[in-house]
Amino acid sequence: MAEECIFCKIGRRKIPGDLIYSDDQAFVIRDISPKAPIHLLVLPFEHVTYLESFTQDREALLGHMMLVAREMARREGLTESGYRLVINQGSDSGQEVPHLHLHVLGGRDLGSMG
Ligand code: AMP
Ligand code: ZN
Repeated sequence: MAEECIFCKIGRRKIPGDLIYSDDQAFVIRDISPKAPIHLLVLPFEHVTYLESFTQDREALLGHMMLVAREMARREGLTESGYRLVINQGSDSGQEVPHLHLHVLGGRDLGSMG
């Protein structure tokens, strides 16, 4: 049976989400609890849980997610001011939803990660 996590459901439009972009591989939503003025999530439609489960033949999907993030940053006007891309992995990172997603954060000074 296909996975039905919350992000799968948003991607399949079974539950509402602020879906602002989609193509044949990935979609983008606005984070429901934004940590910056612009906070987007880039997600594959495919239910991939962790980077660990990615096989070598799927590396193009990761590259695609990065290019979608760049395009969304352009659309949101972040290219000049800058932005941060984050992928949380596992409990120490605070990852809440086990469906791989790339955070795009910007619109304020995010500071250094030290
Ligand atoms: P992470 O901690 O990396 O797993 O990030 C999960 C992110 O998903 C958090 O920033 C949440 O605010 C966000 N989130 C959880 N549920 C939803 C939802 N229904 N729509 C949009 N963003 C969500
Ligand atoms: Zn999922």
